Amino acid sequence: MILNQKALSYSNALMEVQRMKQTLKIINQARKEGRAALLETEAKAICAEYGIPVTRFKLAKNEQEAQEYAQELGYPIVLKIVSPDIIHKSEAGGVIVNLKNAQEVREAYRKILENAKKYNANAKIAGVMVQEMAPKSTEVIVGAVKDPQFGQTLMFGLGGIFVELLKDVTFKVAPLTREDAQEMVTKVKAYPLLRGYRNTPPADTEALVEILLNTSRLVMERPEIKELDLNPIMAYERGAKTVDARIILE
Ligand code: ADP
Ligand code: MG
Repeated sequence: MILNQKALSYSNALMEVQRMKQTLKIINQARKEGRAALLETEAKAICAEYGIPVTRFKLAKNEQEAQEYAQELGYPIVLKIVSPDIIHKSEAGGVIVNLKNAQEVREAYRKILENAKKYNANAKIAGVMVQEMAPKSTEVIVGAVKDPQFGQTLMFGLGGIFVELLKDVTFKVAPLTREDAQEMVTKVKAYPLLRGYRNTPPADTEALVEILLNTSRLVMERPEIKELDLNPIMAYERGAKTVDARIILE
């Protein structure tokens, strides 16, 4: 029994080292290239290392690959531009959702590159992200900012008008305890929506608490993260999924 526990904590330690190595590798690469904003592919890879659920994805370098990856990940599929020079992807016509077959993928691939060129003729293009489409659900937002006075601070809110118009958000300074994270979720005014309302089924608030805790762990371990945005996260009856992730380095 004791031996088993030792073996377990040893393998946990190994996993932790691996996670840190992967994360640092991504951050160092961005720094080497003089980029403060990570690509969505990079931000999501880091999130996944920390146990934050993200849409499955692959980075395609050509139409052929995009079609292969779409087949692999399963339809419907989403394509997105991946460029260090395009931060707000949909603004550049760089996001096309709900593609249903190989032909639509090919057309969307071309359209996205064309739109990117129109938006910024000099934009460097890393490729086109092919990702699973997350079914619509209640949208929530998790954020982190490095406050000059308080340090890493977590934010939680519901998507759309709740954050943008009503500023209905909660904040707590990291590191979060489980109780902190639970409070952040239950203290937003829109919380009753997460409990289920009319046609909206209840959301898995435990999954949201886990995301907050994992995000807290990430920004504590990587103080060079200045800003982090998981926006939106689809909250489901079981689990949740991050659809877009942004990380800005100092
Ligand atoms: P932007 O850089 O413009 O914020 P996003 O990645 O957030 O780009 O995509 C814009 C919108 O497209 C999202 O807010 C979401 O509504 C939708 N979307 C993007 N990716 C997915 C996905 N994998 N599944 C479902 N909807 C998505
Ligand atoms: Mg977004």
